[in-house]
Amino acid sequence: MLSIASQSSIEEEKSSTTMRALVFHGSNQIAIEQVPIPRPGPGEAVIRVTLTTICGTDLHILKGEYPVRPGLVIGHEPVGVIHELGVGVTGYTVGERVLVGAITPCGQCNYCLGGDLAQCGGPIGGWKFGNTINGAQAEYLLVPSAQANLAKIPDELTDEQVVLLADIASTGISAAESANLQVGDTCAVFAQGPIGLCATAGARLKGASLIIGVESDPVRTSMAKRMGADIVLNQNEMDAVSEIKRLTGGKGVDVAIEALGTQATFENALRVTRAGGTLSSLGVYSGKLSVPVEPFAAGLGNQKIITTLCPGGKERMRRLIELVLHGRLDLVPLITHRFSLDKIVDAYELFGGRLDGVIKVAIKP
Ligand SMILES: [Zn+2]
Ligand SMILES: [Zn+2]
Repeated sequence: MLSIASQSSIEEEKSSTTMRALVFHGSNQIAIEQVPIPRPGPGEAVIRVTLTTICGTDLHILKGEYPVRPGLVIGHEPVGVIHELGVGVTGYTVGERVLVGAITPCGQCNYCLGGDLAQCGGPIGGWKFGNTINGAQAEYLLVPSAQANLAKIPDELTDEQVVLLADIASTGISAAESANLQVGDTCAVFAQGPIGLCATAGARLKGASLIIGVESDPVRTSMAKRMGADIVLNQNEMDAVSEIKRLTGGKGVDVAIEALGTQATFENALRVTRAGGTLSSLGVYSGKLSVPVEPFAAGLGNQKIITTLCPGGKERMRRLIELVLHGRLDLVPLITHRFSLDKIVDAYELFGGRLDGVIKVAIKP
């Protein structure tokens, strides 16, 4: 009897100090494993993750196109409940519901204090979860610089209403913001995947007069209209560049948003950017990207080409939460499939293969 009792207390001990998490082991090697539950150091917090999702960037990691170290827990879109607070984190209590951005700036370095939170500490430095530290596709998550990154979720809002704010909505909406899109501006959005759909919503929020989506997938085309596109052009059935020119009186758009990360979409976005207009790029490119000289007016066209990495930090999350709270932004329709954490590998297959009309998946630990 004694040995049974001690066995069960060992089991108990084990279950209270370990958790399930999705661990990356190398190209196309991911698995749910038992790993230690993190403990917060000074200035840190641990949250119990109640909902997360899979990002296109996670697919790049899985394929080995974006290198992270083997043994890392991946994922960067956490909604959860505060489980434990480290020394020095004030204004929060255990049990509060919080949203944490995909980007977790320290709030203290020169980049952060200069307003470039996503570039905290240096290039792409704000992106830590599932990149340089363990990520959110787990039961628990250590949040660094917790004071700068925990955004409280109002009781009225569900986890599903806010989970996409952590990354794709913050990124997508930032395209129009970074472009300084003015009320009445015309806008084209190249590709209507999750980020492009949020970029479309962002152009509407910023007051674009005409939003032209470019997309061939029928599910994404109808979702683009729901998110604010006036017209969606199928680039496989027509010359989208000349159609956009025609729709804008031959000039091109004030703001062209690139939301895919390919040479073709970048180039087409540049071709429809009017003289003096802005190409706002969200795509993640690999290999080499070249600029054709003719639509660039030989370098004399006064076009601005800008890039934006997902804005993070608790104030950014608070502002996005306010948009949802007051009915200005509804991202729940983008969540087309739901999985438990135990089935996340199936979710990767569905999302990665773009099967069954998937746009985003919700993962519940
Ligand atoms: Zn992401
Ligand atoms: Zn910083």
